[in-house]
Amino acid sequence: MEDERPIADLVRMYLTREGFGVHVEYDGSAGLAAARKLRPVACVLDIGLPGLTGTEICQQLRAGGDWTPVLFLTARDDEIDRILGLEQGADDYLTKPFSPRELVARIKAVLRRTAGPPEGERVRQAGGIVLDPGRRSVQAGGVPVALTPTEFDLLAHLLHRPGRVYTREELLASVWGYAAHAGTRTVDVHVAQVRAKLGASGSVIRTVRGVGYTADA
Ligand code: CA
Repeated sequence: MEDERPIADLVRMYLTREGFGVHVEYDGSAGLAAARKLRPVACVLDIGLPGLTGTEICQQLRAGGDWTPVLFLTARDDEIDRILGLEQGADDYLTKPFSPRELVARIKAVLRRTAGPPEGERVRQAGGIVLDPGRRSVQAGGVPVALTPTEFDLLAHLLHRPGRVYTREELLASVWGYAAHAGTRTVDVHVAQVRAKLGASGSVIRTVRGVGYTADA
């Protein structure tokens, strides 16, 4: 969803070329309706839209239990923390002006993440958290926790080898699937979100000062 037609046209062109079916809406309300009706594999949401803003669309999708991967487009750097904030459920973002190739790469990365791990991966447990990769479900203290696909993959990665310390760059490469130029702050923001959602069990994810993060065994 993008109200600037030249940008929308460019995104459509690049994604179509990659074999994606693309549906464009130029207005927020129409965009939300289309997302609900068409059930896309991913949504690219401009923040500044007439009707509903991109963040309002995302909030409404999430409120309705729709966890379709969302990649935000923003014209403002200072919006990033808010976009990635707990209540928004964003999976990634790009700041305008962006390269359409980068957008394609990010969408593919988000789809790889949300495709889930191979069958038969073991259930991981630590500090009251039970993470089931096959069902993509997480419980903390016996209570189901709703994580975005990115948050899930981040937690799964940390729980894969409890005690191992992962640098932010490693997590960015493994979980997000792209190199560190994207900014390691993304990792910090997502770790904070996962911790908050896990409640008391969130302390399992420990910050290793000056290095990165680990999950306590
Ligand atoms: Ca706009």
